[in-house]
Amino acid sequence: MDQIVIVGAGECGARAAFALREKGFKGKVTLIGAESVLPYERPPLSKDALLHGHEPKLVSDAARYTEAGIDVITGMSVESVDAAARSVRLSDGYNVPYDRLLLATGARPRPFPGLRGSNWRIKTLRTHRDAVLIRESLQPGKHIAVIGGGFIGLELAATARKRGASVTLVEGLPRILTRGVPEAVAEVVAERHKAEGVNIICGARIKALEETRAEARVVLEDGRTIRVDMIVVGIGAMPNTELASEAGLKIENGIAVDEHLRTSDPHIFAAGDCCSFPLAHYGGRRVRLEAWRNAQDQGLLAATNLLGGKEAIATVPWFWSDQYDLTLQIAGIADGTVITVRRNMADGAFILFHLDVTGRLLAASGIGPGNAIARDIRLAEMMIANGARPDPLALAAPETKLKSLLAA
Ligand SMILES: Cc1cc2nc3c(=O)[nH]c(=O)nc-3n(C[C@H](O)[C@H](O)[C@H](O)COP(=O)(O)OP(=O)(O)OC[C@H]3O[C@@H](n4cnc5c(N)ncnc54)[C@H](O)[C@@H]3O)c2cc1C
Repeated sequence: MDQIVIVGAGECGARAAFALREKGFKGKVTLIGAESVLPYERPPLSKDALLHGHEPKLVSDAARYTEAGIDVITGMSVESVDAAARSVRLSDGYNVPYDRLLLATGARPRPFPGLRGSNWRIKTLRTHRDAVLIRESLQPGKHIAVIGGGFIGLELAATARKRGASVTLVEGLPRILTRGVPEAVAEVVAERHKAEGVNIICGARIKALEETRAEARVVLEDGRTIRVDMIVVGIGAMPNTELASEAGLKIENGIAVDEHLRTSDPHIFAAGDCCSFPLAHYGGRRVRLEAWRNAQDQGLLAATNLLGGKEAIATVPWFWSDQYDLTLQIAGIADGTVITVRRNMADGAFILFHLDVTGRLLAASGIGPGNAIARDIRLAEMMIANGARPDPLALAAPETKLKSLLAA
């Protein structure tokens, strides 16, 4: 095998490229990305980057790509994949041949229904460029509306408040963080935002988002109009699957891969936010994760399997979010929970453990200041991976060391 091409120069693609070298691959590695910057971390975009106006936090600097012999082509889209000829076509018309191809095309923000074209005052947040544009409106005297009470919208709201802007957050459902976050945890987040001065409107039906030269407007069906300087829409993300579907690959809520990250074409793999995969610890159910650590892990696994390995995905989903001084972490998937036990910790922190009908630990969701819950969530994650059935009373008792339950 001489040539591996990676489409998508994000977290996952970059990690895969370096891992190929670390695993001894001597052939050509080409990493192609549509953005004009080297691969960078996205989590800071709604947190520090917006607060301090940092440059993008690169996964690696240019010198390391050169040292590793990775050809990085930035600012160039792959327009099509010819699976029969095993080559990709770039937006400048060039064809790049491959022996193995990795699609790490990520995801893009879900557009607000009915909005078209470019909008000056209505934005989404996915790229460093988006963050730079949004940052201009995050200052005292400015008012922003965030559409969607998911992680990105809430982190952005917290950052906007820290920078002194007024924030109204509009959520269509009865509460924020409905996707995968227990109500008790979401309540802590909501209360904290309210205490910081964020105006949260839940159960809102949006009639239209409008903009003029002077302002943007959120028009609600109940007749209210919220006038702001900028609207940021954070209503979820959609996987970038077009290349894969046009190449005839199977799509199922993302590019469908098997437990080895292989698509329906044996020469093409997919990883990160763009793919859906079977989750072994949850009976093989197919999921797609939009999470930083998953993108990293799958980049490494893809490298192993691109080189002929047969390593299977052994992920326990894990996600974190930082808002003000609070950190929220979720390990596992709570669907199928019949018992939830709460473990109270110091400084108002707590973790909810979710168990199924057999007593198996499915998930743990925690919230607290700083890294108050980090260690116990990590231990819970290990228990989930082991298929543990811990005693619910012991889980709830703060004096019981989770490490002892893990050992048991
Ligand atoms: C604002 C923000 C905050 C986040 N915060 C957290 C957090 O706190 N915790 C957490 O766990 N996760 C967080 N995430 C999610 C995490 O960043 C993503 O899961 C991760 O970036 C996914 O990496 P990826 O490489 O799969 O995809 P991406 O990072 O989306 O990279 C894919 C790249 O492929 C490029 N591309 C797509 N199509 C083509 C093509 N045809 N040709 C060339 N290039 C192409 C795209 O331009 C993009 O650069 C956050 C995401 C955002 C946007």
